[in-house]
Amino acid sequence: MADCIFCKIAAGEIPSEKVYEDEEMIIIKDINPQTKIHLLAIPKKHFESVSDMTESDAQIVGRCLYKIGKMADKLGLENGYRIVSNKGDDGCQSVKHLHIHVLGGQKLAEKMC
Ligand code: 5GP
Ligand code: ZN
Repeated sequence: MADCIFCKIAAGEIPSEKVYEDEEMIIIKDINPQTKIHLLAIPKKHFESVSDMTESDAQIVGRCLYKIGKMADKLGLENGYRIVSNKGDDGCQSVKHLHIHVLGGQKLAEKMC
């Protein structure tokens, strides 16, 4: 997608602090962290949200979740974390390329909103 910031980050055209990369995903530090540790797991393939996934896209997202789980301790999230994927206006999605927020490094609020 020509004007998608996460496609550009995934392609290395815009710099980011990557903590993991393979052929189908990156995990980067959020530029404006909301918690002590705030990561974004981003499939390299462009699709807007969970509502726009094909079954094959869902398998990529599943592998993103798997990788987060496997890397959590190494990333400083051994005490726990929260996973969020915002969708649309009510979800306050600002970047229209699916991404999974990984929030942790501190005790989070009990309520989600
Ligand atoms: P959303 O609001 O779409 O759920 O989340 C988008 C996230 O992407 C925000 O937390 C925002 O801080 C992050 N973000 C936006 N632009 C950039 C960028 O250029 N680099 C990085 N690392 N994060 C970004
Ligand atoms: Zn994109």
